[in-house]
Amino acid sequence: MNRIGNELNKLVNRSLDRHVRLAVTGLSRAGKTAFITSLVNQLLHVSTNPRLPLFSAVREGHLLGAKRVPQIDMHVPKFGYDEGMSALLESPPVWPDPTRDVSQTRLALRYKPQKGPMKLLQDTATLYLDIVDYPGEWLLDLPLLEMDYLSWSQQQAKLLKGKRSELAQSWLEMAEEFDPLAPADEALIERLSAVFTEYLYKCKAEGGLHWVQPGRFVLPGELAGAPVLQFFPFVWADKYSEAQLQQADEHSNFGMLKSRYKYYQQHVVKAFYREHFSKFDRQIILVDCLQPLNAGPESFNDMRQALDQLMQSFKYGRSSLLRRLFSPRIDKVLFAATKADHVTPEQHPNLVSLLQQIVNDAWQTASFEGIKMDCVSLSSIQATEPGFVSHQGQQVPALRGHTLSGQAQMLFPGEVPRRLPNDAYWQQYGFDFVNFRPLDIQSDEPLPHIRMDKALEYLLGDKLR
Ligand code: GDP
Repeated sequence: MNRIGNELNKLVNRSLDRHVRLAVTGLSRAGKTAFITSLVNQLLHVSTNPRLPLFSAVREGHLLGAKRVPQIDMHVPKFGYDEGMSALLESPPVWPDPTRDVSQTRLALRYKPQKGPMKLLQDTATLYLDIVDYPGEWLLDLPLLEMDYLSWSQQQAKLLKGKRSELAQSWLEMAEEFDPLAPADEALIERLSAVFTEYLYKCKAEGGLHWVQPGRFVLPGELAGAPVLQFFPFVWADKYSEAQLQQADEHSNFGMLKSRYKYYQQHVVKAFYREHFSKFDRQIILVDCLQPLNAGPESFNDMRQALDQLMQSFKYGRSSLLRRLFSPRIDKVLFAATKADHVTPEQHPNLVSLLQQIVNDAWQTASFEGIKMDCVSLSSIQATEPGFVSHQGQQVPALRGHTLSGQAQMLFPGEVPRRLPNDAYWQQYGFDFVNFRPLDIQSDEPLPHIRMDKALEYLLGDKLR
C-alpha cells in the first residue's frame, strides 16, 4: 500500500512539475553571455543570496534552491557557464568569451507553491528553467521570408549609401565583371561571397552598424563554410532588365544565387523559427544603448533600425507571417538596457527612458497581441563602484573601477539623454565610457549586479507562486 502511495505521489509530482523556456537575445556584444552567466549564478546561490530583494520568490522565502541539470535538447550546444565563471574568478578577472551560436542550459528550481492545485497537492514543486541564448542578428532575417531573391537584392542596393557604400567598395569592384547570365561558376561565387561577407563584418566592426543581412553570415555558428552561406545580393540591376534576370535559368550564375537564397530562407531562417523560436515562453532582449551613444548618430540610428527589425518577430497579428508558420508562445518580453554600471546611478532612469523611447515607437505602431512588455536597466556583472569626486568645490557623482589593462580610474562618463538624441545633442554632448574589467569576486559569493533581481521577478516571478 505504502509503495503504491509513494508511486502515486511521484506521479502527481511529475505531472505538476512545470517548465519554462526563457530565451535571451541581443545584438552581438549586447551582453548575453554576461547576463546568462550572472542569471545562473544568482539562482545557484539563491538560498543565501542577499542580492535579490526585488525577486519575490527569494524575498518571501518560497524559492528553496536551484541546481543545474542535464539539458533535454542534446543537439543544442551547452552554454559555457563553467568557462565563464573560471574567467571571472581569474586574478585579475576577465570577461567570459561570448558565444556565437545558439546554446542552452537547464536549471531545476525547487519552490513552495503558494496557490492553486499545486499548493493543495504538494509541499514543494520543481520548475524546470531552460535558458536559451541566440544571436539577435538571426532575427534580422525574418523579412527575408517575405522577399524573393530579386526583391531582396533591390532592397540591398538601396541600402548601399554613406558608410555602407564605402565599406562595400572592394566587393563592388571585384564583382564589376560578374555576369549573372553566364553558366554558374561555383568557385567565383564562393570568392565573391567571401568578400561580401567581409563587407558585412566590416559594417559591424568598423562602421558600428548592426543591421546586416543575412544575419547568419556574420554569426554562422555550425554553418561556417557551408554553400548555403555563399551568395550575395545582385545589386547591379541597372545593367540588366528584370525580365532578363527572371529568365536566367537554374544553371546560370543568377540561378545559383537564387537557389542558395531560397535554401537559406527554408533551411536556415525558417528552421530557426520552427525549431527554436516557436518553443520560447519568455524573452529578454538585451540592448547596449551606450556603445552607439559613444559611436555617434549613424551608429545610433542603425541600432534603432536593427531593433525595429528585431521586434517584427514579436508581432503576432492574426495575419502575421509567424502566425502562419506556427503558433508563437511568448507572452512576456523584457527589454533590458545592459551595462548600467558604465554610467553613474542618477543616470539610470534616463537610460530606461531612452530605451523605452527606442522600443516604444515600434511597439505602438504594431500589433503585439497578448504580449506584455517592460523595460529595465541592469548590469549583469558589475564592474564599477559608484562614488563622488570633488569638482570646483562640489561633490559630483563618479565611477571607480579598473580598465581592461588594469589601470585604476575614477571618472564621470557623461549624461545619458532622456529622449532620443537630436542634432543638438550630438553637437553639444560627448559621451565617453571606458571598458572596465569585472570586479574581484570570491567563488562562494554571488556575482555583484544591478537589478538582475528586477529582471528575474518580471521573467519568472509568476511562475514561482
Ligand atoms: P554577447 O556578445 O552579447 O554575448 O556579449 P558579452 O556578454 O560577451 O558582453 C560583451 C562585453 O560587454 C563584455 O566582454 C564586457 O566587456 C561588456 N559587458 C557585458 N555585461 C556587462 C556589465 O554588466 N557591465 C559592464 N561594465 N560590462 C559588461
